[in-house]
Amino acid sequence: METFACQACGTCCRWSGHVLLTEADLTALARHLGLTEDEFIQRHTTLAANRAQLTLLDQPGGACCFLEADNRCRVYSARPRQCRDFPHAWRVSGCPALSR
Ligand code: SF4
Repeated sequence: METFACQACGTCCRWSGHVLLTEADLTALARHLGLTEDEFIQRHTTLAANRAQLTLLDQPGGACCFLEADNRCRVYSARPRQCRDFPHAWRVSGCPALSR
């Protein structure tokens, strides 16, 4: 497995596409933010293009709604499975931590 040391550049959190959410993600994120799951869904998600899952909302410009100005993730300890699996479960290019 390729060695990966995140450089906290925030690039992966600005890529176009969806952060698809599992039921477990919804539960963990709502709890982390002190919200009910319904409140979390209303405030932070929308229906994904596959019309089968929810996805996190984007900020204007396309960054994930939880990416902060210093490139840190506001919900890092409760981040979705898709984010936890990055980059090892992904075929990615454009991540500077993998291009060395
Ligand atoms: S939840 Fe956090 S790690 Fe995942 S895309 Fe958003 S800012 Fe990045």
